[in-house]
Amino acid sequence: MAEIQIKGVAKTFGAFTALHSVDMTIADQEFMVLLGASGCGKTTLLRIIAGLETASQGEVWIGGRRIDHLPPRHRGIAMVFQNYAVFPHLTVFENVAFGLRMQKLPETEVKRRVQRTAELMHIDALLGRYSGQLSGGQRQRVAVARALAMEPDVILMDEPLSNLDALLRLEMRAELKGILAESKTTTIYVTHDQVEAMSLADRIAIMHGGRILQAADPIAIYRNPAARFVGAFIGNPPMNFLPAEATPEGWTVAGELFAGPDAPGPLEFAIRPEDLRPAETGLPATVRIVEPLGPHLLVTCDVAGRALRAVLDSDLRLRPGDRIHLAPAADRVRWFDPKTDLAVTP
Ligand code: ATP
Repeated sequence: MAEIQIKGVAKTFGAFTALHSVDMTIADQEFMVLLGASGCGKTTLLRIIAGLETASQGEVWIGGRRIDHLPPRHRGIAMVFQNYAVFPHLTVFENVAFGLRMQKLPETEVKRRVQRTAELMHIDALLGRYSGQLSGGQRQRVAVARALAMEPDVILMDEPLSNLDALLRLEMRAELKGILAESKTTTIYVTHDQVEAMSLADRIAIMHGGRILQAADPIAIYRNPAARFVGAFIGNPPMNFLPAEATPEGWTVAGELFAGPDAPGPLEFAIRPEDLRPAETGLPATVRIVEPLGPHLLVTCDVAGRALRAVLDSDLRLRPGDRIHLAPAADRVRWFDPKTDLAVTP
């Protein structure tokens, strides 16, 4: 059992608070992705779990054992960090074997594990090379292979695919997902790439300003963002937001009436671009930009002085200046309180 519990973990650097009392439990064998913009505290949290940084406050538990006072090597964790610390004077084979030799595993077992992980990471042809002679992307794969070869209960990865070209990244992403599921490892994976996060994660934790705003499965995060920031951060093109005023009949958005939450106004009305369609009635929109993207059109409109994006059928003949109505799918409308930025449920 390698459940990870983060209890009230905070970190300050002088007067700056990088983490505000973070609480999170990552289940045994779960694949958790920490996602957030640069500087939100992802790496700091990972480094505290790994033992490369001390928390100012709080505790870290793995498998029911408190580990935050233990040195990194006694935490039962394998890590792949951004700078991937591959030893240039060792061959790829010796780099991948490094942790296994520390564990004094028999040579046949070392060979078996190195060969297997090298094949998985597509570096088996490079095993005899010195790591100093490798490209950045190859070194990164050596670092991932070295961590996987340890067959750890817990693996922490900080942007492990960032140096790979787009195609290889796509391939490695799928490989990693398969390998980690098969090996029953509990994984925490840091990225700022939302597509990577969505594709890999059992759950995604969205971080912002040293806090976890929401931790949920990718579809729940996408469909039911707990905060405006989450809705705006996840999804490309991003979610649309429009001001909504309370009236006795319901909520008015760009002059249109909608049923909404029973809450004091004003609120923000939110809808994803793919949840809008042209109709007889709906939000009155003036088409500004039409971008044909193959399977669909990305249409930027003006709605009550705000830019709104809709993903529409590519058969539609739309031109800048056209006046249309965009009807939101009723079950996909979300509401946020502008005072707290939190979701308000109807
Ligand atoms: P990135 O995606 O750019 O790596 P991140 O979300 O991983 O960003 P962190 O590296 O965790 O962000 O940093 C969080 C905040 O803490 C940043 O504002 C950073 O400048 C600050 N910080 C991190 N390490 C230190 C340090 N040793 N001293 C002072 N401030 C630090």
